[in-house]
Amino acid sequence: MTHSPIWHPFTQHGLGDPAPLVTHAEGAVLHTADGRRVVDAISSWWVTTHGHCHPRIMAAIAEQAQQLDQMIFAGWTHQPAEDLALELRRILPGELTRVFFSDSGSTAVEVALKMALGFWTHRGAGRSCVVVMEHSYHGDTIGAMSVGARGVFNAAYAPLLFDVGRVPFPGDDPQATLDALEAACAAGAAAFIVEPLVLGAGGMLMYPAAVLAEMREICARHGTLFIADEVMTAWGRTGTLTACEQAGIVPDIMCLSKGLTGGAIPLAVTMASEPIWDAHYSTDRTRTFYHSSSYTANPLACAAANANLAIWREEPVLERIAELSSGQQRHLEALEDHPMASNLRRCGTIAALELGDPGGSYLSDLGPRLLRRFREADLLLRPLGNTVYVMPPYCIEDSDLARIWAEIGAAAEDIATS
Ligand SMILES: *Cc1c(COP(=O)(O)O)cnc(C)c1O
Repeated sequence: MTHSPIWHPFTQHGLGDPAPLVTHAEGAVLHTADGRRVVDAISSWWVTTHGHCHPRIMAAIAEQAQQLDQMIFAGWTHQPAEDLALELRRILPGELTRVFFSDSGSTAVEVALKMALGFWTHRGAGRSCVVVMEHSYHGDTIGAMSVGARGVFNAAYAPLLFDVGRVPFPGDDPQATLDALEAACAAGAAAFIVEPLVLGAGGMLMYPAAVLAEMREICARHGTLFIADEVMTAWGRTGTLTACEQAGIVPDIMCLSKGLTGGAIPLAVTMASEPIWDAHYSTDRTRTFYHSSSYTANPLACAAANANLAIWREEPVLERIAELSSGQQRHLEALEDHPMASNLRRCGTIAALELGDPGGSYLSDLGPRLLRRFREADLLLRPLGNTVYVMPPYCIEDSDLARIWAEIGAAAEDIATS
């Protein structure tokens, strides 16, 4: 590796592992310049759903590239965005009537927070406190970090982060979560933002749909806006189109990104219910929703998302998801009695467990050792500390899935004997 000027995300360059150069990909496999075939066990950080370079999505982008590349979206519109908005309205709950485009999960969250605050401001109510769940992750921009867990990832920026109310993660004592939420809502919280069913970056922590349903109910009772950050959980990841679906709930605001384009190209939407829209709808310019990014509703990205939605309409996507989910369950169960594997859990296509010492922290050296080991085995797996999780594209071959789990099993064995 010669000297690349690239500063990679979430990478401590001082520790020196060179970045493998990937030349092409298909399905659940990345190919490197030095001829390695790497299984993408984490869907390239949770984005790839139907597989890399899906022919229908690639073709849609290529076709759109002949027509319209990019244009202003303030006061102008284009067909791919119109089609996408209508289709999202059709497949998501009817209460989510409005579609606001942006370009990443973090911006979808920023938009959701601004909508919620705008809602209360324009209604003349002084509600501004945002409530969040312990261990949550909502992105890396300042607002998104503010509503996420505080720790080593954002300690350096703490002076810029705003205060929020926090409720505990609903682990052994879900009632404590519900009581804390009840108290915060009763005290006039403006909004509660939460990752439904699975807290991703917080360590693939899972909680029951019944708790999600109760949290939604508490917010509704107090008028606190309920924001579902489905950036990771939607598009089949948790076994259904959205995770909220499993709890039978509809949020006031829903954030979608990652798998929205099948994971091919950046795009996000924040879906809002009619009261949120109504609070901004006026002839008064001061009530305008003042948010835009240059590439809002980029036509190439919208075309990719429309192709993704066509795949959902026309192909047996949920069957593939169910198959992958039961494959994950089988492999997980095979490790059930291993002394070095604990807290085995699964939600839809996401399987996770802790390896080794259950009390290990993110910066313990087991994480980096596992990362190196998996890389040497030509697997793209990226443990969160000693939490190992498998979240592959839905099209992964059985043999590749087996290879991932065999390596996790071998890692558990090595820890046991070292
Ligand atoms: C990844 C993620 C985000 C941030 O999305 P980006 O596109 O990386 O900005 C927000 N919320 C959740 C739940 C995520 O998993």
